[in-house]
Amino acid sequence: MTLPDRFGRPLRNLRLSVTDRCNLRCQYCMPEEEYVWLPKSNVLTFEEMLRLVDVFVSLGVDKVRLTGGEPLLRADLPVLVQMLAQRPAIADLALTTNGVLLRDHAVALRQAGLHRVTVSLDTLDASTFQLLSRRNDLARVLDGIAAAREAGFTEIKLDSVVIAGVNDQELPALVSFAQSVGAEVRFIEYMDVGGATHWRMDRVVSRARMLALLGAHFGAIGEVARTSSAPAEQFVLADGTKFGIISSVTAPFCASCDRARLTADGMWFTCLYAKDGTDLRALLRGGASDEVVRQKLLEVWAGRVDRGAEERAAMPLRAPLAAVGSLRQNPHLEMHTRGG
Ligand code: SAM
Ligand code: SF4
Ligand code: SF4
Repeated sequence: MTLPDRFGRPLRNLRLSVTDRCNLRCQYCMPEEEYVWLPKSNVLTFEEMLRLVDVFVSLGVDKVRLTGGEPLLRADLPVLVQMLAQRPAIADLALTTNGVLLRDHAVALRQAGLHRVTVSLDTLDASTFQLLSRRNDLARVLDGIAAAREAGFTEIKLDSVVIAGVNDQELPALVSFAQSVGAEVRFIEYMDVGGATHWRMDRVVSRARMLALLGAHFGAIGEVARTSSAPAEQFVLADGTKFGIISSVTAPFCASCDRARLTADGMWFTCLYAKDGTDLRALLRGGASDEVVRQKLLEVWAGRVDRGAEERAAMPLRAPLAAVGSLRQNPHLEMHTRGG
């Protein structure tokens, strides 16, 4: 079944955050020194996650992406993957990771039945990596990408958030690196989401600017026709190398957004920018039946009118979404809690 929201958008895609913890501190996501973490006792068990996933699947979700925080910090993640992989209705089962721990887990994840891996990689330069993430782990990330290939993952994607003056000169090198390891890079415009307290419009590198930078290096760039609701637009170089751009700031794609997010403690958000979510943990732990949870999801999605990025784009003066104080009071606003 497909369930339309108020703008006719179906619910197809679930981003499932398995932890809010992270082993990097990316400037664009976790720039502060201190964070308020979700209480451990609130974090859903795998059984609870699977119960919710099954209800989502019964409403039409057929794509599940595991995220975080850093999902590989969640103990026994391959066990969850294996349980999800046994559900034939999930046509696409993916993981987004910063790659630091991928060498340790790639084989187990592949054997558990994970379909696809996306690794965040913003730079190929060790000092820029240190500046961006406040950790010295570039070599581990690159080795993690190699490990994913060795484990047999074929459709590897590399996601790069582009920030003016930080890594915008590296776009051609990232395209070439991705091609050399059999992966595809997707450049993401730096977004003013919760957690991005250092965001400024003049640090956003627009899709148009990215294409100009890449065109100056590689020559003609062609557009690949869209075949899905995926946020990335795909482009192709003269030699056939493909790359993507996710222009969430300058050309938002809310009109086709079929995505929802479940935090590790069971809050369900129908938009990356939504201020409020639905507390599904309270329902589960309060003894609600699957049917009651299902009715709640139906009711919330049927009333969904979210178009956060489009609303932000229409603002004449844009500033970070949330101040540090409000993030401390409500960590659910954070990108690393919502799962990106
Ligand atoms: N830790 C994992 C990782 O980095 O891949 C998964 C979670 S992370 C929150 C998911 C995605 O959100 C990453 O690709 C990251 O680059 C992206 N992200 C975080 N903050 C962002 C921002 N301000 N603008 C654009 N993308 C952002
Ligand atoms: Fe970076 Fe992902 Fe961690 Fe955010 S959650 S700090 S994007 S590695
Ligand atoms: Fe979807 Fe909200 Fe992102 Fe728009 S801003 S694409 S509605 S999650």
